[in-house]
Amino acid sequence: MVESVLAAVRTAPSTTELRELPMPALTDDAALLKVEVAGICGTDVKMYAKPPFDDPVIMGHENVGTIAVAGEKFKRLHGVADGDRVFVEHYVGCYNCEWCRIGEYRHCEATDWRTNADARRYGYTSSKNHGTLWGGFAQYMYLPWNAVVHKVPEGVSAELAGLVTPLSNGIEWALLAAGVGYADTVLIQGPGQQGLAQVVACKQAGASTIIITGTTRDAARLDLALELGADEAIDIQTEDPYQRVMDVTGGRGVDFVLDCTSRAGVGPVLLGIDVLKRREGTLLIQGELAAFPDFPIKKLTEKAITIKSARGHSYRACELALQQLGSGRFPLERLSTHRFGLTEVDRAIRALAGDTADAGDADVIHISLMPWLEKES
Ligand SMILES: [Zn+2]
Ligand SMILES: [Zn+2]
Repeated sequence: MVESVLAAVRTAPSTTELRELPMPALTDDAALLKVEVAGICGTDVKMYAKPPFDDPVIMGHENVGTIAVAGEKFKRLHGVADGDRVFVEHYVGCYNCEWCRIGEYRHCEATDWRTNADARRYGYTSSKNHGTLWGGFAQYMYLPWNAVVHKVPEGVSAELAGLVTPLSNGIEWALLAAGVGYADTVLIQGPGQQGLAQVVACKQAGASTIIITGTTRDAARLDLALELGADEAIDIQTEDPYQRVMDVTGGRGVDFVLDCTSRAGVGPVLLGIDVLKRREGTLLIQGELAAFPDFPIKKLTEKAITIKSARGHSYRACELALQQLGSGRFPLERLSTHRFGLTEVDRAIRALAGDTADAGDADVIHISLMPWLEKES
């Protein structure tokens, strides 16, 4: 085994340094993951520009790789063997609190960096903590006994498995949180990797009408949404989205609105409230909006709208996402648009943030950071 590990370390806002870090010592209940793919998402863009603290952090919270070294106890605990390809959740729960005890470790205090400065979460935790390698933007990642690993099905490549996080969010938010099901009508706002993942989840669940909105810049993403099963795509810059949704639904409105626009502000939420059916619709929102002036509470109560918040994913959603990838039922490989190596972390995050100079010709949907890319090519 090598003695040192190359890692892209965030050392200051929007600053990455390639560092050689010592290989952590492993106890019998721990393991090392050889990182194949670390997915990049909108959260990385935010955390890179505005880190919540000053400590050095190896980012990368959507990680896939193979078990490189593992203690016997780790293998027994997790049912894995050397060389197994696994998807590692970014949550590292305590497994002792009430949330962990019911399997909802995503709510565990031990993994919540917002409320606990000493929280463990891949991509967020200081590399000064025991284990050092707490993120996927490195050749190897440290797996303590309480890491949550999912075996990747045979035939699913590392790059495809890198889509587990957006897909599991799709399943969690659309199906498990909002409750989209057979014959439902759905409006999905925003055709990024999250929005596209919601299309797939809703289609698989049997939604009868899936409408997706985007801007003129999103033309290729909207086309991909139609290919993945959306029925109607609306460019909100050239069409009136309210009118189009009403036309498509025969004036009834939709059963569900899933807002995946993240930083678009209040517009999508207000539109969502308006296009929901007359009574008992469900609006799924994300926590990007800090505050909301003139929130139309009256309209909300008159229409008896339920608001659900999108908050990560559960164990079950990850397993269902892996099954979905293994089934080959949807051309999900189309979501994987870009690859970057370990020396290009800064470029990769800028490309996802919309810097076209860093993205090249193709539209960015999902970016795979592949720590071993340069060495192999
Ligand atoms: Zn993410
Ligand atoms: Zn816990």
